[in-house]
Amino acid sequence: MLVGVDANFLSPKASVRAAGEGWRTVVIAPIDAGETVAAFGGSCLTRSELNETTAGQQAQAIQIDEDLFMVGETAAVTGATINHSCAPNCGIRAGVLVVAVRDIAVGESLAYDHAMSSGSDFNDFECGCGAASCRHKVTGNDWMLVELQLAYRGYFSAYLAKRIAALVTVGAERRAFAL
Ligand SMILES: [Zn+2]
Repeated sequence: MLVGVDANFLSPKASVRAAGEGWRTVVIAPIDAGETVAAFGGSCLTRSELNETTAGQQAQAIQIDEDLFMVGETAAVTGATINHSCAPNCGIRAGVLVVAVRDIAVGESLAYDHAMSSGSDFNDFECGCGAASCRHKVTGNDWMLVELQLAYRGYFSAYLAKRIAALVTVGAERRAFAL
């Protein structure tokens, strides 16, 4: 890593602000649908290695493959300040990119849904995002919810898209067998 350079990328159209005990990433210039707003960097750890890190690092980590997690160097790294929402304005591309799923106005906070990236129980949490569709408990099994699979198509991390495709294939075979 380059000394003095943040491991993550954050669009100059967004700014990190303190919010309660944590952080939020506020839009300061209009963002178009499809724009990349952030990219995660850091260290790639397996689950057993992740278990050796602090609770703070685990809370900031993003799962990028079946047994790989991207973990930042410090607690409040850029990108890790992009929070979860059950009604997100961003999605995940290529495992580590955060992209706008719709036009995002100045003053909104950037958020993606952890269901798009998490497929294990390393960071289950109680959600109070305030969305009408809030699931209240966010877990590593949320990618299995059919309504989320439909809503977030194209915005799941590749390893989760592969899991979902396998489920769909099994379902199609069962239907064909039943006919
Ligand atoms: Zn929620």
